[in-house]
Parts: sequence; C-alpha cells; structure tokens
Amino acid sequence: MTQLRPCVHCKADFLPTARQRFCSRSCAARGRPRPARAAAPRPKRHNDRRFLRLLALGHCERRGGIWRWGTRRIRDSVVARLIASGRAEIDGSELRLKRETSA
Ligand SMILES: [Zn+2]
Repeated sequence: MTQLRPCVHCKADFLPTARQRFCSRSCAARGRPRPARAAAPRPKRHNDRRFLRLLALGHCERRGGIWRWGTRRIRDSVVARLIASGRAEIDGSELRLKRETSA
C-alpha cells in the first residue's frame, strides 16, 4: 500500500504516484521556484516588418472602427506606429504604404 504524502505547497495529504511532490497541478505551479526567465519582462516584439510586407501587397481598410487587411485584423497600435514612423499613410478609409518620394 502506498502511503499518503503531504503536498510540498499546501501540506494537504495526497496519494502520490512515483515521485509526485504536489497534490495538484496548481500547487506544483505555485510551489516550484520560478525560472529566472519568467521573472524578467520580455522585450516587446513588433511585427511591423511583416505588416509592411502585407501592405506592399495591398492596402488595409478601416471597417467598423477596425483596421483590416483582408479578413485579418490589424491593431490600431501597429497602424499608429507605422504612420508615426512615416512608413504608411491614411487615404480616406484606407491605409497604404507611403510612396518613396515620387517627384
Ligand atoms: Zn497542494
């Protein structure tokens, strides 16, 4: 017969399998020391390049207050960033790539 074992996290007795130290998954998540990687905030990755490639293929349209490229939703923050950086411009309800200074 296997013996009951107290959970490392909440101390509740449970019937362990093999080397189980926690009574449940949630206790395991809370009881284990967090890896250092999880503690450090991740740098934000912007997908501007990918979006610029989409814009090169076709413009983006604003429908119902939402920017869309085809059926794909484009975040306002992405659009705002591209406009702010001068890489795209709004033309009516469309967003398109800014043309390279065509004289
Ligand atoms: Zn527990």
